[in-house]
Amino acid sequence: MLKDFLKTVFLWDLVQGMRLTFRYQFKKVVTMHYPDKEKWVPYDRFRGLHYQAVDEEGELKCVACELCARICPAGVITIEAYEDDKGVRRPSVYEMDLHRCAYCGLCVEVCPEDAINHGAGYEFAGFDRADAVMSLEKLLKNKPNETDPEKMGTVASARFIRDKDGIRVEEDGKKRYRWW
Ligand code: SF4
Ligand code: SF4
Repeated sequence: MLKDFLKTVFLWDLVQGMRLTFRYQFKKVVTMHYPDKEKWVPYDRFRGLHYQAVDEEGELKCVACELCARICPAGVITIEAYEDDKGVRRPSVYEMDLHRCAYCGLCVEVCPEDAINHGAGYEFAGFDRADAVMSLEKLLKNKPNETDPEKMGTVASARFIRDKDGIRVEEDGKKRYRWW
């Protein structure tokens, strides 16, 4: 009874809570400082934003066989084909509506030319629904900057930029470490 009374008078529960709070002040910070100071560089197996690959000569690898569009369970991919002057099928339209994409990776698995791939991109939130509709031009630009497996699965120091081109988080190359 007296003990409870003294605990109430001396705000013992508050003291206990503050003790716990201060103990955490001196522990190693494990929270990633995204987007102001750091960003996550996913592992190379990560299924991120799709991109279209080109060969050593810079030619589009895609032969518009439409296998990716056929296997896609969500009807994400639209392809229109034409035959170029060498008689090779190419896409005149290759469009992905990523609103519907489940990132299952089937389109990548089935592609006989390694043309459509998952990159490491995950920062593709937009202000407009059209931002998530990827034309062939956009897919060609989506190739990830970082492809070195040694550097993937890490936290890189970065800076948050807001300018006329929009907002983005860019690595500054100062620091990189493994999170675990
Ligand atoms: S990842 Fe899956 S859902 Fe998305 S486009 Fe490819 S097959 Fe379709
Ligand atoms: S991305 Fe691959 S599977 Fe899809 S149409 Fe082009 S070559 Fe065929």
